[in-house]
Amino acid sequence: MKRNIVIIGAGTMGNGIAHTFAQNNFKVTLVDINQSSLDKAIKTISNNLDRMVTKEKISIVEKNNTLNNITTNTNINSTPTDVDLVIEAATENLDLKMKIFKELDGYYASNTILASNTSSISITEIASSTNRSNKVIGMHFMNPVPIMELVEVIKGYETDLETLKFINNITKEVKKIPVEVNDYPGFIANRILLPMINEAIESLHHGVSSVKSIDTIMKLGMGHPMGPLQLADFIGLDVCLSILNVMYDGFKSPKYIASPLLKNMVLAGKLGVKSKEGFYDYSNNKKAEVVSKQFQ
Ligand code: NAD
Repeated sequence: MKRNIVIIGAGTMGNGIAHTFAQNNFKVTLVDINQSSLDKAIKTISNNLDRMVTKEKISIVEKNNTLNNITTNTNINSTPTDVDLVIEAATENLDLKMKIFKELDGYYASNTILASNTSSISITEIASSTNRSNKVIGMHFMNPVPIMELVEVIKGYETDLETLKFINNITKEVKKIPVEVNDYPGFIANRILLPMINEAIESLHHGVSSVKSIDTIMKLGMGHPMGPLQLADFIGLDVCLSILNVMYDGFKSPKYIASPLLKNMVLAGKLGVKSKEGFYDYSNNKKAEVVSKQFQ
C-alpha cells in the first residue's frame, strides 16, 4: 500500500517536494491556504514532468502515475491522519511557522514526525511551539527539488535518534542524499554560501570588478556552475538579505553583516529573477544574462 505524506505550502519548494515524493510512489496531500497556489503547483509539476518525458527520463505512464499520486487541500484539518511525516514548506516567517506547527501538533497523532524546509529559522525554536519537540526536524531541500540531490537534515536540540533515522531513510527512498547538521544559524549550506555571495556583492560595491567578471571568475576559476551574483538573483536578494540577518542576529559576528549594496537593492525592489531585475536584467527572458543597467 502507498504511504501518505502531507506537504504544507505549495510554492516553489512545496511543489518540488510534492513532485519528488509522488514520483517515488507516495500518496501526497499538498496543502496551501490559496487555491490559486495549488492550481499553479499542479501545473508546474505537470510541466516539469512533461520536460522529463521529452528528455526520455520518465515514461508517460510514470508522469500520469505521479500526478495521480497528488491531491490538494486548502485545510490542514481535513487531510489524512495516517501519515508518518508532514513536511512544512510555507512562507519563511517565524510567527507563521510557529502557528502552523502548533496546528499540526494538535491535528496529527503524537508519533507523526513534523519536518520544516526552512532555510534559516531555528528548528529548536519551531519545535518549541509543539508538544513533540523530539519529533521535529529540519529537511532542507535544495531548489529545484526534483533535480538537486542534497537534503540537509537539521537536528534540533531535542530531535531524537529515531526521528533522525526515519528522515535519513525516507530521504534515500526518494533518491536523495541526506547530510546531517546541528541546528545553528544558517545550518551549513547557507552559512558557507551566503558569506561568499555577500563578498561578491561587496567586491562589486567597491568597484573591484564587474558583475560579469566576478561571475566568470567563480565559474571558470572555481568550477561553480553559476556565478555568485547570478545565483543571488535566482535565490532572491530579499531572501539572501534575510538569511544574512538571521546569521548576524545569531552570531553577532561582523562577517555576516549584509553589504549596503544588497540592502539598497532590496529597498529598491530589485530582488533578482522574481522582480525581473537584480544584478542581471530578466525582463525579456528568465535566463537572460544581460547585466542590469545599474551596473553598466
Ligand atoms: P513560496 O513563497 O514560493 O511559497 C510559500 C507558499 O506557502 C505559498 O504558496 C503560500 O500561499 C503558502 N502558505 C503561506 N501560509 C500558509 C499556511 N498557513 N498554510 C499553508 N500554506 C501557506 O516560498 P518557497 O520559496 O517555496 O519557500 C518555502 C520554504 O522553503 C521557506 O521556509 C524557505 O525558506 C524554504 N526554502 C526555499 C528555497 C528556495 O530556493 N526558494 C530553498 C530552500 C528552502
